[in-house]
Amino acid sequence: METQTDEIIRQSLQALGDTPAFLPDVAGNQREQVFQSLAAILSTPNKVHKAFLRIPLENGRVRRIPAYRIQHNDTLGPYKGGVRFHESVNEAEVTNLAALMTLKNAIHDIPFGGGKGGIIINPHDYTAKELNLICKKYVQYFNDVLGPDKDIPAPDMGSSEREMDWMMAEYKSVNPGKPYLGSFTGKSIISGGSLGRKEATGKGVYFAFRYMLHQYAKEQREWLAGTDNRFARSLLALADLPRQLSVAVQGFGNVGAVAALEAHRCSRMNGKVVAVSDRNITLYNAEGLPVPILQQYSARHWGDLPGTAEELASLDVDAQILEREAVLHLDVDVLFLAALQDQVRDDNVDGVKARFIVEGANAPITGGADKALAERDVIVIPDILANAGGVIVSYFEWLQDRETQFYREDQVYSLLYDKMRDTMNNILPAYFADGLTLRQNCYKHAVMKLSTALYRQGKLF
Ligand code: NAD
Repeated sequence: METQTDEIIRQSLQALGDTPAFLPDVAGNQREQVFQSLAAILSTPNKVHKAFLRIPLENGRVRRIPAYRIQHNDTLGPYKGGVRFHESVNEAEVTNLAALMTLKNAIHDIPFGGGKGGIIINPHDYTAKELNLICKKYVQYFNDVLGPDKDIPAPDMGSSEREMDWMMAEYKSVNPGKPYLGSFTGKSIISGGSLGRKEATGKGVYFAFRYMLHQYAKEQREWLAGTDNRFARSLLALADLPRQLSVAVQGFGNVGAVAALEAHRCSRMNGKVVAVSDRNITLYNAEGLPVPILQQYSARHWGDLPGTAEELASLDVDAQILEREAVLHLDVDVLFLAALQDQVRDDNVDGVKARFIVEGANAPITGGADKALAERDVIVIPDILANAGGVIVSYFEWLQDRETQFYREDQVYSLLYDKMRDTMNNILPAYFADGLTLRQNCYKHAVMKLSTALYRQGKLF
């Protein structure tokens, strides 16, 4: 079945086919052939590695745990992408996520390809000792295909710096004498991790929004007003609102809580965070929520928000408790989606009132819902553009590990914002001119970069 990623890659290739500036020296029959080859290359991974990890449990039983490492494309550099620890992991999902990594790295000019890993477990069902063994076995089984210049995993859903430290330590043990610091990213600082890595995705997500609405809209106002482009009209309408913008954030974890804090503190935008949600509830106050208090509570309660009237009273927080999905349908200007995939779908998109949506999570909007939002001229900053802060700072971590020279936190954020600004400046002019969505423009840009590299490297005829 064609995934949303495959569909947009196919559309990007169609759009590029009609662009004379793209591969100008390839014409006629050869052009058609080249496009067919490109479609085949980009819609399939280079390699699919699967293993059944043999894990002796603490109760004496042995379990075989299915695990994947999928290497989608390494045209632009070593494969790069997280390892997901989740019961629902399957080959199709990991392959799709690996393809998204190829595109994400391409649009942000990160010299990495795309990969992704997965281990089919619920990590809560295992002891720390068993999880440590699972991490070691993952490295042992996939050792031949991993390494700082081959494939560099990072944390993903269900894994964290603890697992990356364990994996790097095992990589070091099984490859004595070889460089090992850059074999995994998202590690703890003591193990060679980067300052700012944990907050990088949430900060990048908020930066993408703030940059477009505040700086870009201001600097390009005259040009935007003259383009007669529907998304430019939407942007200026929001930028010109004579009141504070209201913001809702779905998901209050690593990405959502940081983005909400940034919005709360952003004096430039006067962003008013009126709603946040987690896996249980939505909290709402039309006058704005005290995000720092909620963030401190959630840090002490395994990522959960205060969910009862008594808990809210004890924190002196004035908020209504609404159902979990309510966050999607509130009357707000801006909606950050930072929980999980498939949240805005055909069956609920009509209730979404926000005029500006930022994807912190991967694929939180389904293909059909995305089209419906575009028909209403809603601006959507897609995942591969907005949530790349994690992989961008992972790249900085890999660089720091190579040099064994480490940056200060403020240097990391400054480099992160420069990179995201450069990417946006590359893509926004086309977005506000050609009528395609920002997602389509990001894919087009990434596919153009990958295709040109493949052609120049003699891999397309
Ligand atoms: P997290 O586990 O820290 O937080 C997830 C949040 O979503 C929590 O508040 C949780 O309560 C909430 N949630 C869970 N199930 C929900 C449901 N059914 N409905 C509503 N909310 C629900 O995860 P995170 O690291 O913040 O990542 C969030 C998303 O961003 C994921 O999709 C992840 O793949 C993506 N992402 C994360 C990073 C990163 O660096 N952390 C980078 C890129 C993409």
